[in-house]
Amino acid sequence: ANLVAIVGRPNVGKSTLFNRLTQSRRAIVSDTAGTTRDRQYGKCSWNGREFSVVDTGGWVVKSDDIFEDAIRQQVRVATDEADLILFLVDNETGITDWDEDVAKILRRTKLPVILVANKVDNSGESYSAAEFYGLGLGDPQCISAATGGGTGDLLDLILTKLKDIPEESLEEDIPRFAVVGRPNAGKSSIINAFIGEDRNIVTEIAGTTRDSIYTRYTKFGFDFYLVDTAGIRRKNKVTEDLEFYSVMRSIRAIENSDVCILMIDATRGIEAQDMNIFQLIQKNNKSLVVVVNKWDLVQDKSQKAIDTFKNAIYNRMAPFTDFPIIFASAITKQRIFKVLETAKQVYLNRKMHIGTTKLNSVMLPIIEATPPQSVKGKFIKIKYCSQLPNTQIPSFVFYANLPQYIKEQYRRFLENKIRENWSLHGCPINVFIRQK
Ligand code: GDP
Repeated sequence: ANLVAIVGRPNVGKSTLFNRLTQSRRAIVSDTAGTTRDRQYGKCSWNGREFSVVDTGGWVVKSDDIFEDAIRQQVRVATDEADLILFLVDNETGITDWDEDVAKILRRTKLPVILVANKVDNSGESYSAAEFYGLGLGDPQCISAATGGGTGDLLDLILTKLKDIPEESLEEDIPRFAVVGRPNAGKSSIINAFIGEDRNIVTEIAGTTRDSIYTRYTKFGFDFYLVDTAGIRRKNKVTEDLEFYSVMRSIRAIENSDVCILMIDATRGIEAQDMNIFQLIQKNNKSLVVVVNKWDLVQDKSQKAIDTFKNAIYNRMAPFTDFPIIFASAITKQRIFKVLETAKQVYLNRKMHIGTTKLNSVMLPIIEATPPQSVKGKFIKIKYCSQLPNTQIPSFVFYANLPQYIKEQYRRFLENKIRENWSLHGCPINVFIRQK
């Protein structure tokens, strides 16, 4: 999928526009940054096409006293990783020095850039927006992110500027693994351990690495694609430590994979950055294997220490906790084979199809023993269930007489029972309840 990045000063309305494009009701528009991690990345569909949107401001921890230099770096990262930039300016404030600086960076990029003047709430105000032409990025698109005015035209324009990314012809039944994680978690090291050679041999000629993101490996009897992006290969010293950078460069790899191998640094435990990447994995419905790497550096390897570590991870990632955690070392190669083996198993789980007869013979007795609560004296009955064919992730439908009265808690109970009876370890699943 294509990736669109929104850049601009604090308070120009980036998150309002982001919400409008992604229609995310859960995202919070207020400036208390850090309250939700949801507002940074989302999907937008328009006229039958879909693309991903990133709000670069979503990574700014305190938007009031933001270091302007940090935002400029984020703009650079965005131009490295995205397919199109929306440069948002504020029509109430007019052009600022900072806007000039960013425009300078954006004029040099080869990416398409759309200059967007926000807070144009009526046609009279669009006259003043003409001054933004002076930024050298063409005529501004006038919008009001708050009311939605002009955003339809903006979306049309975005689609005309996004290139169709051709589908690569891949063998369908070979798993695609993405190795993701924060900087220094050991991603490059474990990939080297998998493929047994120094991967930094990839040529750095601009534009050549972006094209193919899949590399096929046959190692230790496993056949898999490693999903990569130009961003992962290109190490940019200045920006490498930015959290934003690690997330930006994960997006494409995650979107194009079946199974994500999420690397966690055993010496640091789970932090906000790991959670960000975990949420990208979830939002894209990808399967998951967590690797606690650098296990060689940990002194206490007792079962108790292992259990504590596992519980800490499961607690952070709840309610999704049905995934494997492997304690490994990319350097000593301890359990490297196990990581691949588990990733493959998780991939097979993802492709599982449970026959309707089998599913009902297990689930109906469970439902009979613990039926949904009756509401207002109305009897709620689930008649049967089945797994939908050809879905991205295993999806189950339970047919009920009064689906609207079945509570989320009961839906989750059904999900857990499916998980107890079949191995869907590492895989997100859908459980729908529909009218019989
Ligand atoms: P990346 O940024 O996620 O690709 O991380 P790297 O693979 O570049 O690793 C970061 C640093 O951690 C390097 O100095 C590695 O040698 C070190 N490292 C990676 N994995 C391990 C491990 O399992 N054990 C130890 N002791 N060091 C590791």
